[in-house]
Amino acid sequence: MASVTLDRVRKVYDGGIIAVHDVSIEVGAGEFVVLVGPSGCGKSTTLRMIAGLESITAGEVRIGDRVVNAVPPKDRDIAMVFQNYALYPHMTVRENMAFALKLRNVPRAEIDRRMREAAAILAIEELLDRKPRHLSGGQRQRVAVGRAIVRQPRAFLFDEPLSNLDARLRVQMRKEISRLHRQLGATMIYVTHDQVEAMTMGDRIVVMHEGRVRQIGAPADVYERPADTFVAGFIGSPPMNLWRGHVRGDGGASVFEARAGGLRIPLDAPVLQRLGLASGGEVVLGLRPEGIHLGEAPFASGACFGIDARLDEAEPMGNEIFLYASAGGQEIVARVPPQPVPRPGDPVRLTLDLDRLHAFEAATGVRLGP
Ligand code: ADP
Repeated sequence: MASVTLDRVRKVYDGGIIAVHDVSIEVGAGEFVVLVGPSGCGKSTTLRMIAGLESITAGEVRIGDRVVNAVPPKDRDIAMVFQNYALYPHMTVRENMAFALKLRNVPRAEIDRRMREAAAILAIEELLDRKPRHLSGGQRQRVAVGRAIVRQPRAFLFDEPLSNLDARLRVQMRKEISRLHRQLGATMIYVTHDQVEAMTMGDRIVVMHEGRVRQIGAPADVYERPADTFVAGFIGSPPMNLWRGHVRGDGGASVFEARAGGLRIPLDAPVLQRLGLASGGEVVLGLRPEGIHLGEAPFASGACFGIDARLDEAEPMGNEIFLYASAGGQEIVARVPPQPVPRPGDPVRLTLDLDRLHAFEAATGVRLGP
């Protein structure tokens, strides 16, 4: 297994579109890194530059110690798994899996050995003599992964491999790919627009937006300390509440006033200090939906603040309820345990856990404080 390093990698397409701006990422040998971001953020282009399927406009890609900018894809010793599986329809599963090895003149016995091993890992032994059209979507995806495994690549690249599967199968394949990663100890780079896949699979995630890296970190760190308002809004569902406004007053008597006017949240000195906030400038306050409680009951400890809002919509999920409310012209999303809730249009009392507030600079969106 090899490390994969991107050093200020840039991609400019014909017509001057900068798809990737000077992206630097170091993926350790054996690490599972997920590139995640909305459609068009440059994640596939980044992956395709690692694979050699796209030329690199500037910067350097290294696999292990070797700079591969000018190395053709077949000589990079990596295997890629695509969303559409890209299996050869006229070949059986066995032939699909053996194809790349035959091209490399790997001896017959060695091909058989690797195939048996991969088929056992993926539980596809019974499928080896079928053609792809006689396989379900999940089985095709397994075969595509099997074809990558037999090559014993220095790194695996996955481009949205689960997007064509139904929700249930996606969850299952997610677990299988994670297991595969542990079992093989392989370097894996995985592209997805799905933040749940990113959060559940990655050792680290790279959040991209408009061709740039916004944050790199362990999933829990990115969730708990988003680097900016984009990451705060993108990772987590429902997304973090983000309220734009000003901090007025000073010291003990400071209050956050949302720009729209109505929402006011008093902030005492310890909270201000923790958030790195001072009076004056425009800021964005953030609070995850789970930091908002339905009703008066305060949190076990620490600072909290109750507000009167109107319930706009309630989405019961079974194990929890998402509440969409508004107060003073601001939208508020809360995530609460199952319980009786008021009807849409009715007043609702919400309690904010001020110890879980985040703060960002309004002009740049960059996180303030720790
Ligand atoms: P993602 O994988 O995050 O959806 P892509 O890497 O596919 O994003 O695309 C990043 C940007 O580059 C987009 O603006 C897209 O329109 C543009 N782009 C992608 N491929 C090409 C291409 N072959 N020619 C020109 N522009 C492209």
